[in-house]
Amino acid sequence: MDSTDTLPVVIAGAGFCGLALAAQLLERGQAVALIGCAANYGRGTAYGDARREHLLNVPADRMGLRADAPAAFADWLGLQDDERRRFRPRLEFGDYLMHELDGLRARYGERLRCIEAGITAISRGTDARWHIAIDSGETLESDRLVLSLGAANTASKTNNGTIIRQPWARDALSDIDTNAPVLILGTALTMIDMVLALQAQGHRGAITAISRRGRLPLLHPEPPLPPTPPSPALLAALEAGALRRALREFRKTIDAGAAPATLADGLRALIPQLWRGWPLQSRKRFLRHLRPWWDSVRHRVPREVFATLDHLRDEGRLQIRAGNFIDHENGDARVRWRGERHEAAIPASVVIDATGWDGDHDRYAAHPALSALIADGHLRIDPLGLGLDCTADGSVPGANGLHLIGFLRRGECWESTAVPELRAQAAALAERLAAY
Ligand SMILES: Cc1cc2nc3c(=O)[nH]c(=O)nc-3n(C[C@H](O)[C@H](O)[C@H](O)COP(=O)(O)OP(=O)(O)OC[C@H]3O[C@@H](n4cnc5c(N)ncnc54)[C@H](O)[C@@H]3O)c2cc1C
Repeated sequence: MDSTDTLPVVIAGAGFCGLALAAQLLERGQAVALIGCAANYGRGTAYGDARREHLLNVPADRMGLRADAPAAFADWLGLQDDERRRFRPRLEFGDYLMHELDGLRARYGERLRCIEAGITAISRGTDARWHIAIDSGETLESDRLVLSLGAANTASKTNNGTIIRQPWARDALSDIDTNAPVLILGTALTMIDMVLALQAQGHRGAITAISRRGRLPLLHPEPPLPPTPPSPALLAALEAGALRRALREFRKTIDAGAAPATLADGLRALIPQLWRGWPLQSRKRFLRHLRPWWDSVRHRVPREVFATLDHLRDEGRLQIRAGNFIDHENGDARVRWRGERHEAAIPASVVIDATGWDGDHDRYAAHPALSALIADGHLRIDPLGLGLDCTADGSVPGANGLHLIGFLRRGECWESTAVPELRAQAAALAERLAAY
């Protein structure tokens, strides 16, 4: 046995993916070092930095940590019957993840090294090992490294008093005055989370949310409906990357009685393969023209969340509008509403950027765990800036022993966001790493 065989697999980032992968590797007899920021260790952004009123957007009986036990979260909560298909608080899911982490620690002892630390740099040594420097001053070495950094969100977007570009940062909203008018950029799930968080802290001011099309996420069908498989004509259009034709076929299926949500569910498992077959031009067209619509049918919200939005809209305290944000100065935001030629000014003491990270391509190069790897040519940002180049199993080409999991793989397969896909990635990657 050569000395490298004894090195643990290092997982950089201890959110959902890091934990799911650690569980799978430990079950396969591997040793693991799981490194992540102390602030949300084991929970990640989604389930550590949420508030009580933020609900999961996947039913409890589909949120288990392991692909072979999808109902484990509902079981852990002891939910029965219809309750198992309800949408539980995200923080409660974080508690479940901590319970799973405690179980792994108890079962595997020293084979699992939990390191609560910030990663300050990663590089490749002359020994061909990956060197991971952490903020305690220690450097770990391994021949197998998995980057599990979520959206690799960095300080390239920072918050100041009037523009909040990191809405998930702790206390990001806490300085917002109770009566302050607020403009939210984006009308998708993060916007909804921000509105709920503002309500929970007693905010009473007017809120305007703006996006190019002003489209809101759809509701989850209740009771849940089975997925609608795509018609052969729709599938053929998608396989050819003929997106306009695909949209027409999608509409035909809807006109024939299918719900958009169930058709999106029917397509979900096929997306990675379709995406991989599309030339760059089709992927670009998808992002530009279809993405807002796709996101709204694919990433849906529970009915109870929508009820809060409806109530606020009825009271005139929340407006959802289509248009473009131009800039923000002295308590006013300049916008151009869709269909209008002239700009308008609306009162906005604070602007919350809830558009996500996709426009911010520089964040990868600025991220401490990624910057040297990118500069040294071990990692490449994918051509659309969605993630980092990798193969279908998450291996980084030309960088032996370096792998990706989760959001960082979106450029390769697009559908790499939610728990059902991520835990399947974890199981497949563990299988591969254990076979090294
Ligand atoms: C607000 C929100 C709500 C969501 N809700 C759902 C849902 O209901 N259902 C669902 O299926 N999916 C949901 N998702 C999708 C979610 O992204 C995945 O479910 C999953 O949490 C992603 O896990 P991850 O490990 O890839 O990323 P993360 O959970 O973000 O984990 C990445 C970890 O890396 C750490 N990290 C980053 N940089 C460093 C560094 N330099 N040093 C050390 N650690 C570092 C971060 O602190 C973080 O803990 C949601 C996402 C968000 C943002």
